[in-house]
Amino acid sequence: MSELILATHNLSKSFGALKATDDVSINLRAGEIHALIGPNGAGKSTLIAQISGGLRPDAGRVMLMGRDVTQYGTATRARAGLGRTFQISALAMEDSVLENVLLGALGAEGRPWRFWSRATADAEMRARAMTALERVGLADDHDKRTAELSHGQRRQLEVAVALTLSPRAFLMDEPMAGLGAGGSKRLTGFLDGLREEAPILLVEHDMDAVFALADRISVLASGRVIATGTVAEIRADRAVRTAYLGEDA
Ligand code: ADP
Ligand code: MG
Repeated sequence: MSELILATHNLSKSFGALKATDDVSINLRAGEIHALIGPNGAGKSTLIAQISGGLRPDAGRVMLMGRDVTQYGTATRARAGLGRTFQISALAMEDSVLENVLLGALGAEGRPWRFWSRATADAEMRARAMTALERVGLADDHDKRTAELSHGQRRQLEVAVALTLSPRAFLMDEPMAGLGAGGSKRLTGFLDGLREEAPILLVEHDMDAVFALADRISVLASGRVIATGTVAEIRADRAVRTAYLGEDA
């Protein structure tokens, strides 16, 4: 089996009496897309937030490349190799595409704003940002205002921001949301190639995308993992069909 990159061990988080994450142990291996599905309110975003560091678990651990990062904040985890993408609000719409990549990389490195003008002059930083834009297919658009990009291109831009930190794993929470059929299809193709860069823990409602992309699927219901398996195994799982897939049937 390929290298273990990311793992949660018995992660739990409650909001009052509600167990939003209930003893969740899942992992992500090199080269794979591991999809996380489940009905609304199942606890998918809460789990992603605990992995990225925005939310502290009540119990359990998050391990990245064998290192316990549970006590680290989001910026430290990002530097350690956790690439959180698709927080569209994090993009500065009036700034250029290239500026967003520079700014994102700076922000994650925790460098103060006053170094911004110096950083724009930093040829090495700019070269790194352009390389990231080339890898996501946006190099030709680097001078455009970010607001001029399509929704799908903005998601690619978020990946470029993450790439400047050489992520070891990507966390994505519903990247297809808000995209039309064509946009979803293009983004699916893009994510398909991105797993070579780093494996992806992918929360997604679009089942066409999930079935096309996932090497493994885990199903969350009421904060618990009720099944993990291949696409074929999950499609055939009766408990999953009842808890989740059945609602669309
Ligand atoms: P999903 O992403 O699978 O739709 P969430 O992780 O957003 O589910 O939510 C899981 C459950 O936790 C839901 O019942 C939601 O209402 C609750 N929840 C999420 N965040 C909070 C919070 N900050 N405070 C209280 N309840 C929350
Ligand atoms: Mg959610």
